[in-house]
Amino acid sequence: MASFSRRDFLRGVGSLAFLPLLRSQPPDLVLYNGIIRTVDSVQPFAQAVAISAGRFVAIGSDHEVLGYGGVATRKFDLSGKTVLPGFIDAHAHPLASGGQHLRMVACDFPTIAQVVGALKARAEKTTTGEWVLGFLYDDSKTEHPVTREELDAAGEGHPVIVYHRGGHIAFVNSLAFRAAGVSETTSDPEGGRFEHDASGHLTGRVADKAVERFRQLIPSQPTPGQDREAVKLIAKMMNAKGITSVGDATTSPADLHAYQAAHAAGELSMRVYCIMVVEALEQMIGAGIQTGLGDEWVRVGGVKQFADGSISERTARLSQPYIGMADYYGLFLSSEEDLYKNGRKAYEAGWQLCTHANGDVAIERVLKVYERIQREIPRKDPRNRIEHCTLVNDSLVQKMRELHVIPVPFSGYVYYHGEKMHFYGPDRLQHMFAMRSFLDAGLRPTDSSDYTASPFDPMMWLQSQVTRTDKQGNRWGINQRITVEEAIQCGTINGAYASYEEDIKGSIAPGKLADLIVLGRDPLREPPSSLASIPLERTMVGGKWVYES
Ligand SMILES: [Zn+2]
Repeated sequence: MASFSRRDFLRGVGSLAFLPLLRSQPPDLVLYNGIIRTVDSVQPFAQAVAISAGRFVAIGSDHEVLGYGGVATRKFDLSGKTVLPGFIDAHAHPLASGGQHLRMVACDFPTIAQVVGALKARAEKTTTGEWVLGFLYDDSKTEHPVTREELDAAGEGHPVIVYHRGGHIAFVNSLAFRAAGVSETTSDPEGGRFEHDASGHLTGRVADKAVERFRQLIPSQPTPGQDREAVKLIAKMMNAKGITSVGDATTSPADLHAYQAAHAAGELSMRVYCIMVVEALEQMIGAGIQTGLGDEWVRVGGVKQFADGSISERTARLSQPYIGMADYYGLFLSSEEDLYKNGRKAYEAGWQLCTHANGDVAIERVLKVYERIQREIPRKDPRNRIEHCTLVNDSLVQKMRELHVIPVPFSGYVYYHGEKMHFYGPDRLQHMFAMRSFLDAGLRPTDSSDYTASPFDPMMWLQSQVTRTDKQGNRWGINQRITVEEAIQCGTINGAYASYEEDIKGSIAPGKLADLIVLGRDPLREPPSSLASIPLERTMVGGKWVYES
């Protein structure tokens, strides 16, 4: 291993990169004896980095960088381990999921019995009549979707709601229906569905806008203290997987406050790009706020709108029906006119547009809106995003290239959600999570989990994108495979680009924020089929270790 890395370094470490201030001031910390893969084309490999005041100040060979150390410089031996820049999860729901981890029953079990058992245990400790809440449930990972009757048994005397980990559908029991005033004859709200079985009975499955009927009944307004607690918890959880920055894709003003409060209290151990919910747009514009305000810890991002539903819950709006669901194409969640109206208002006020669109027809709708807005209000560096951007075709990718749109696809889906792929089929999968198409077109796709929709696990993302193989060994759309190097770039520097922060993070280079991870094995020398098993040993954010295994 040592001789290999030495060869690498002799090739890659042409010269030492450093900041001039090092001449007068020794660094706070030097990490040495590592295989440092910088994701910086100027100097792709190094053995050592020097860090001062939370930023990299020198990158080079052990000999060169250690030479800058003074008496007070701490030295850390990487023991030949691999270092990468910290990963950026460009689209997740950190505060919401942190709050769920604090308040709800995690239902990510493979059997109905386990789901029911966990809910029952919580119900027994809950005052009669109060809600029992579950999350992280996935109906395609249990024998069958959990039924209303099973949830009746799990939570006798309690209204019960179990949210799907995708965030768009939920499963409720009879008491929950009663509390919401929903009966077998209640008609579906627009953009939502109360599912009935063949004989007209409510199954308990409720989708998209219909979920709101229940959500609004649940006294779940967390206190600011609980929100701060949620931020602290999820930041630690994400650090433990190598995430150093995250995009919160549905930030409310209260959430923005919670991130700032957590940061002020010294409890925020990852950087957050706050993509604001469209409902807050007027208020934000009125206060003179636009994309980019903030600092490297908490920054105001773009504005979030929804064009359609989700992939994992089969509500994405597709041009061809879902397989095995005749004539069912999914749901639109916003009209073209609404996307345009809000989008134009935001763009005019200096905002980046971040629109959720999974299905090809929804993506087409968003691109039409972006094209119109960008034509009406020209901007030099638009970087509007399509969140998820799952099912594409050549003309959509071409249009994205013309409009400089950033796709923010799910990174771990093929590996983690293989059992859902049959709804889409092998032909359609050749155009889904289309990393190869995006990169070949010169676009800069990011990595993302959409947690709770799928795990925030960069090594799993790499395996999924490099192999296009699910846990059972089925391969889906292998034409979209990318290389490990490309996958790492998507998860680091491209994530920084998507938040206009490529000058301060996303690679290991002098002057950039000292965000990095230390891995137990080198992804570039790992067989593709075991990338997901590479252990994370340490995570550093701003020059401080925030996770140690
Ligand atoms: Zn999301």
